Parts: sequence; C-alpha cells; structure tokens
Amino acid sequence: MSTSRGCAAHCSFCQSGNYGNRYHSLPRWRHRSAENIVRELVQLNNMGITAVSIVDDDFLGGDGRGVDRARIFIALLRASRLDIRFSIECRVDELDEELLTDLRQVGLRHVLIGVEAANDSDIRLFAKRTTNSQVRHAVALLRELRIDFSVGFIMFHPLSTVSGLEQNLNFLHDLRIGTYSRVTNRLELHPGAPLTNHYRRHGIVFYEENYRFYYQFSDPQVATAYAMFRELLRPFVTAETAGYQARFTAATAFDPADEKMVERQLGRLSERTSTALVEAAIECLQHAVSVGADMASSNLRHQIERTATGLTDSCRQFLPRITKGG
Ligand code: SF4
Repeated sequence: MSTSRGCAAHCSFCQSGNYGNRYHSLPRWRHRSAENIVRELVQLNNMGITAVSIVDDDFLGGDGRGVDRARIFIALLRASRLDIRFSIECRVDELDEELLTDLRQVGLRHVLIGVEAANDSDIRLFAKRTTNSQVRHAVALLRELRIDFSVGFIMFHPLSTVSGLEQNLNFLHDLRIGTYSRVTNRLELHPGAPLTNHYRRHGIVFYEENYRFYYQFSDPQVATAYAMFRELLRPFVTAETAGYQARFTAATAFDPADEKMVERQLGRLSERTSTALVEAAIECLQHAVSVGADMASSNLRHQIERTATGLTDSCRQFLPRITKGG
C-alpha cells in the first residue's frame, strides 16, 4: 500500500528527496490523509486482508508533517477497531517511544530503518544527518517493544576505505544486526542522485545500463574485501534462511502465551548468527589487507563453513521443539 511519495530529507545517494522524485512545485513529501488511508484499510479488511506492507520511502515524511499524520492515523485506527498488521519504512530520528508504542498497539509489526553507515566519513558523505546514538536508541526501542525490524545499510561505495569498513563492521557487531545482505551491500546509484557528481569529481567512471550506474571501487583492497565477503560468507545465507524458517514456523504454530519465550530463544540464535557472520567478515577484511587477492585461504573458508553449518543445524534442530510446543 502506498500512502505517500518522496521524502523531505536530502540523503545524497537517494532519489527520493531529489531529482527523480520531485514534482513541479509540490513539497518533497506528498501524502494521502490519515482518514483516506484508514478508509482503504477498512475496505481491505472487509475483503479479508489482515496484513499490509506500506511501501512509502518514509512513512513519517522526514519533516515532522508525517509524524503529525501518524498520530491522527493511530487515533483513527484505534477508533475503527480494525484487526490489521502493517509494516513501514522510516528514518531513525523520527522514532520515539511514545509514537512506536502507539503504532505497535494499532498493528505495527515491522519497520525498515535507514541506517546506511556507521563511520563518520560515510555518514557525512551520504548526508544522512543521523547519528550512531540515534541508531542505537531506535534499535533498543524496537527490541524492547518487540517490533521486528530490518536495517538499510550501505557497506560498500566507490570511495570506501578499509578503515571505514572496519568501523561499519564493528558497529554491526555491537548491535548484533549484521546479515549477509547488509555486510555485502554496495551502493546502488541511479540517475538523479546528487552523489554521482561527487564521485565523478574523484575520478570514478560510471557506465549506465537500465537506469542504473555501475562502477569499480577505487581502493583495490576494498575490491578484494568485497569479493571475499560475497563468496566466503555465503554459507551464512543458509543459516539465516533456517533462522527465518524457524521464526515463521514459531509465529504460525504457537499460542500467544508461548510466543514470548520462543521469540527470545530464536532471537538469541539469530543474534549468534549475526555475531559469527560479522566476526567472519572482520577476518576476511584482515585477510584482504594482509594477503591481498589470495581468495583460496582454505583454512578461513573451512572455518567459516563449519561455523555457518553449526548455526544452520541449531536452527533446524529448533524446529521439532517448536512444533511440539517448546
Ligand atoms: S531518508 Fe530515506 S527516503 Fe529520505 S532521502 Fe534519505 S534515504 Fe531517501
């Protein structure tokens, strides 16, 4: 479901608040009214739909108007007594405890937060205008309120440095939010993103295909680390998938009374997977810097495979316990 277009923020890599998503003299964030959204949710609910993904770039708008709209939306949804679950995407600096608590009460179950980077240089480059402490606060709140969340994160970009990657990995490790896709994600650039001009000035050459810019990393050690992350960390995808399957099974098989206990156990397992993955990435990075393009370190490869297989087995062993009731 789409309830708004654009975004009032100006992140330099993103089209949403910039060229590609601007419309004549209208504000950067254009939105439907809370009344209009709730009317549509009532119609959907009457058709038997109980879960909706709200796909707006930023449901909360980026300039305060979205938060005001969300408060009206919460009041209307409460009054409607609809049995509906929904997900949103937003910035970390828009989340506070009261708003999140109220949104959860009316059905919010998943939030995609844009974090993008954890080292100062990339945060400045991306013009994100958020801080690591805001991210820590938002993640703690989401965990406390048992709202599932995912994190937008740009690990690699054309001018990434080894020290920037290290700082990113340490942050993901601290918060236990590393996943294969986050750790291997590289910046995707499209025409209209202001950052492309900055990269061109620094000698990055782009070629464009299907409305997307492709590029090489300027630092060869970063290029090696990227290739190693993608290849050597892949066994963790199987462990992550086994974790998602266990969580899905738990969510559909359990009484609400058991839900918290199972959530806690599976949450711990998923955090162990995240921690092991990021530690393996840190080792790959050290390897990329010290040994260069030698991808065939069989010790490192086998060690990663063993760890990931152990975690996959733990998730799979968890499944019969879930279906028997914990
Ligand atoms: S806050 Fe999100 S949607 Fe808005 S400009 Fe930044 S990245 Fe784009």
